[in-house]
Amino acid sequence: MNTTLTIAINKTAKSKLQDTNFDDLKFGQTISDHMFVADYVNGAWGDFRIEPYAPLQLNPANATLHYGQSVFEGMKAYKNDAGETLLFRADANQKRLNESAKRMCIPEVPEEIFMDGLMKLLEIDSAWIPNKPGCSLYIRPFVFATDDYLGIRPSEKYKFIIFTCPVGNYYSKPVSVKVECKYTRAAEGGTGFAKAAGNYAGSLYPALLAQKDGFDQLLWTDGKSHQHIEESGTMNVMFMINDTLITAPTTTGTILKGITRDSVLTLAKEMGIKVEERFLRVAELEDALRNNTLKEAFGTGTAATIAHIAKIHVNGNDYILPEKDDTAFSNRVLKTLDDIKYGKIADTHGWIIKL
Ligand code: PMP
Repeated sequence: MNTTLTIAINKTAKSKLQDTNFDDLKFGQTISDHMFVADYVNGAWGDFRIEPYAPLQLNPANATLHYGQSVFEGMKAYKNDAGETLLFRADANQKRLNESAKRMCIPEVPEEIFMDGLMKLLEIDSAWIPNKPGCSLYIRPFVFATDDYLGIRPSEKYKFIIFTCPVGNYYSKPVSVKVECKYTRAAEGGTGFAKAAGNYAGSLYPALLAQKDGFDQLLWTDGKSHQHIEESGTMNVMFMINDTLITAPTTTGTILKGITRDSVLTLAKEMGIKVEERFLRVAELEDALRNNTLKEAFGTGTAATIAHIAKIHVNGNDYILPEKDDTAFSNRVLKTLDDIKYGKIADTHGWIIKL
């Protein structure tokens, strides 16, 4: 792919590739050799560069450390059988980064900077993209405030960085979830739709309480009434009740517009599945669990693509869901998505950029 951005390139003198065991990759712990960096100063992005991945120097008064003015993204690149790099829906991540940035008073990152920086980084670190089945390169773009100033106002300076992590075959074990009716992840008018750092910090404590009680994740309910389901952990969540696929709409500003969510809904409609983007009430979920009309429940997100939900705890009761082998729709949609991402079937949606 042709890029036009002028990027200064400083390659590492000592690659970590030889010291990396690609058969034992733990999510987010192995980081590739280089990172793309841009600085926002005097109202403009500039100083585009690729340099060795290394610690940053920050002043203790750095605004992000105190007030959390920071947004991020997560997406993946894959290798096909011919060894070519395939990037999945990066344009959607670029747009979402800017929706998040706007909400947090962070300057937007123009498409050319995001895409050209990413393409160059993937070209330089191409050998870090695993070519084994099920493996991929996780990509983490983020923007954060760099003013050194102890006062609450939008920063005037920012850094945009992209670094990447090779990740192994992510087998998502079936999860048990608890419907959370006390704590909340997002409220209308808040920042739930943004991939803002603080959203994740705020969700740690309720998630930890649930883990102490033996659950893997929470099923978040709305902040106002706690009567309908919003998301699951850090994934969107979908329910197949009878033959209808139900997932929360993204119109209230409380739900992250998941790119996996959108991909699954697109494929479901093409498969002729009835889709309803509406809030599922907790009472309705309980009825479906009692009547065995809940056929499948699963989270959708970049890390696992589909996370099968095996158990739901709601209002003091545990309900066991159908086994993974019996969830026909989610198994089928996962296979189709994987086949698109690894270039095994035609990309009829324009979701893949081949480098
Ligand atoms: N909701 C939240 C809160 C998330 O952090 C994520 C992960 N980005 C998702 C949903 C799923 O989004 P995507 O499919 O784009 O990874």
